[in-house]
Amino acid sequence: MGDILYIVVPCYCEEEVLPETSRRLKAKLEGLMEAGTVSRESRILLVNDGSKDNTWGLIERFHKADAIFSGVNLTRNRGHQNALLAGLMIAKDKADMVISMDADLQDDIDAVDAMIGRYYDGCDIVYGVRSSRKKDTFFKRFTAEGFYRLMNLMGAETVFNHADYRLMSRRALEGLAQFREVNLFLRGIVPMIGYTTATVEYERGERFAGESKYPLKKMLAFAMEGITSLSIKPIRFITGLGFLIFLVSIAMLIYSVVRWATGATILGWASVICSVWAIGGLILLSLGVIGEYIGKIYLETKARPRFLIKEVLDKHDAP
Ligand code: UDP
Ligand code: MG
Repeated sequence: MGDILYIVVPCYCEEEVLPETSRRLKAKLEGLMEAGTVSRESRILLVNDGSKDNTWGLIERFHKADAIFSGVNLTRNRGHQNALLAGLMIAKDKADMVISMDADLQDDIDAVDAMIGRYYDGCDIVYGVRSSRKKDTFFKRFTAEGFYRLMNLMGAETVFNHADYRLMSRRALEGLAQFREVNLFLRGIVPMIGYTTATVEYERGERFAGESKYPLKKMLAFAMEGITSLSIKPIRFITGLGFLIFLVSIAMLIYSVVRWATGATILGWASVICSVWAIGGLILLSLGVIGEYIGKIYLETKARPRFLIKEVLDKHDAP
């Protein structure tokens, strides 16, 4: 008999897609059980991230009807990353390997077989990587790919075109549990765990139903979170910029002294006012970036819980 697999799916207001998602995941997992690839103790763990709709009601119903479904109900909405972490942390005590994926069926669930294959080959982390984004809208593709580029430029190393569709072994999850940061950006933290890793390519589809729960505002916040939680490069940029501007001002000083000595002092109101604005802007920008990091330190020192669990539904060897 194979190892125990838990498929963790964070769900926020997903009542439109959950019936279909659960049907397909169940078929997939049962297929794997039949083939003996995974143990009969394997489960689909649906995490309700404080949905405003009937998502939790559905999860309870699935669980009652079939023990293959487990559920976790968070006390409130904490965002995708925290919901996912909650699911992973619960699954790690029960499973040998855990696969995380979104509820909207955008990640091709047939890539699961290849991931499990790599796990049995001895990999501890297997990243699902999108082979193309043809089905995403132009805007989504543009912003998302720009996001990965910006992240890497800013020193936050991530796997290109990998979202949170990945397999992790139990010991990789135990490694993850030791990262205590409150500012969560799993895509950046997971590569820091180490062990043998692999990637599996898959085609990213369209959302099965409903709307993206990541509007532009959340996406920008997520990018900012990713960069500032993983790297201090932006602060270095500011130091570099400050130095550069200092050099420019010295050059200006020399220039004006020379102009004065040659008796050609022209009143340059425009240039003065421009530099005042430029310097003022740069100072504010720099303060903003530094403030961002101080804010992070503030949150980390508080060490608030990253999620709180209201209830867990998980049945094994039910009578
Ligand atoms: N999600 C969540 N909490 C949130 C927002 C989203 O758990 O506050 C879940 C959502 O249910 C889905 C996954 O995160 O399973 C990814 O969200 P979505 O598909 O809307 O993002 P996109 O694919 O558009 O980036
Ligand atoms: Mg999606």
